[in-house]
Amino acid sequence: MPPTTAVILRDLHRLRRHAKNLKDEIDRLPKMLQAQQGKVKRQEDALKQTQEKITKLKLAAKDKEGRLKQTHDNLAKYQKQLDTVANKKEMDALQVELAHGKESNRKLEEEIFAAMEETEQLTAKLPELNQAVAQAKSELANFDQIQQEKRAALTGELNKAEAELKEVETGLPEDLKAMYMRLVSQRGEDAMSEVNGRTCVACYTEITAQMYNNLLMGSYVPCRNCGRVLYLPE
Ligand SMILES: [Zn+2]
Repeated sequence: MPPTTAVILRDLHRLRRHAKNLKDEIDRLPKMLQAQQGKVKRQEDALKQTQEKITKLKLAAKDKEGRLKQTHDNLAKYQKQLDTVANKKEMDALQVELAHGKESNRKLEEEIFAAMEETEQLTAKLPELNQAVAQAKSELANFDQIQQEKRAALTGELNKAEAELKEVETGLPEDLKAMYMRLVSQRGEDAMSEVNGRTCVACYTEITAQMYNNLLMGSYVPCRNCGRVLYLPE
């Protein structure tokens, strides 16, 4: 005995939902890979920022060392001039310059020391940051591998479901098949709905006794409210 229309529609609905779930799962794969790639990017950025900061600190320290040498030279010059000053006014002016130069020196030395200290601290972090990049890259490679296997498995399952779907569709009565094809082309797996008792489970609209009888006879019966092809449960 060939399967009844209800059995066929039930099967088709199950297969279409299954295929839809598989497609959705396949569609989600690139996004998951992107998230994983984002992790690598974040670690690489953290490393790069630290490296750039170290470079800037070194440049700033070098610049300040140059200025420090200049103030040292100036101080030596003023010191020498102290021996040859002609009057108190010149002496006072030189003392001011000397005090000013010493203060500049002290500040520059402090700044250079702070920059060196920060450079050292940041440099100490580099191995850990490099390690984090390597770790994220390795995780990405691993993830990519697993995902490729998953994609292959899902695609295989999808192909199987679609082949089975085509096979089952050939069993539909010709008149019903045309309506079914038109509906699924528009609404996909959402083109069908089971009847629970006397109610369309998709939109909770009741069906008439006449519709129920038609379902029993295996006719094409659309829900009066939502238009889905109805079928009886097991
Ligand atoms: Zn309905």
